[in-house]
Amino acid sequence: MIPVTGGHVDLSLLHPRFKERLNHFFADGRIANKVKVVSACRSYAAQKWLYDRYKAGKGNLAANPDWLRPDGFFRGSFHQEQPDGFSYAVDLRITKWNGISQKSVTEVARRYGIRPTVRGEWWHFQPRDADGWFPCNAYPDTKQADAKTDWDQITLAVTGVGRRIALSPLRRGSRGDDVRVVQNRLNALDFNCGNPDGVFGRKTRRAVKGLQRACLLVVDGVVGANSWVAMWKPEVPNGL
Ligand SMILES: [Zn+2]
Repeated sequence: MIPVTGGHVDLSLLHPRFKERLNHFFADGRIANKVKVVSACRSYAAQKWLYDRYKAGKGNLAANPDWLRPDGFFRGSFHQEQPDGFSYAVDLRITKWNGISQKSVTEVARRYGIRPTVRGEWWHFQPRDADGWFPCNAYPDTKQADAKTDWDQITLAVTGVGRRIALSPLRRGSRGDDVRVVQNRLNALDFNCGNPDGVFGRKTRRAVKGLQRACLLVVDGVVGANSWVAMWKPEVPNGL
């Protein structure tokens, strides 16, 4: 269980491997019941709102949501949903101060492969940066990854979704994480399906049809094996 300070804290887009690390971290006797997540993932719109406020001189330093690394992976803040559909940052707060300090929290977190990455923000933790995942020594983590094998991990996860989709195509009315992955991917390709809420509705169907038209596939608005594969081809046409 990942404890949060309130219902507004959104954990839904955190990468599963990051969630696993957080689960282990919060189960650690030195941390349990003393630390909570105060902020996690942000939609593009939320990040844009923060950035615009910052630019207008009204809010704290916030990353530009449109800033894009040349490799296309990192976009804006790591709190923000990345092109792979996941986000990779949480802000922690100490809620009980007995026998604990910012330094000790950081030391424990580091053992679980979660590190502060922003100078002057002790509370901001990530499981990775743009170059790859941080090592995790506290428990046998899934395969340690450099930037290259990290892409293998992503490919593996994507392949898993593809296998499920080939067996049971996603269509209007489908729900769940696989739908969310598809929605995130369509949005990343600028086939806009709105808020990636995991519900395959009219907007998602329209976006799927747009992709199918652009890729010269049968235009039925159903995501089966062909549409799924097309979505991940490097030469897929842009929806704009
Ligand atoms: Zn942060």
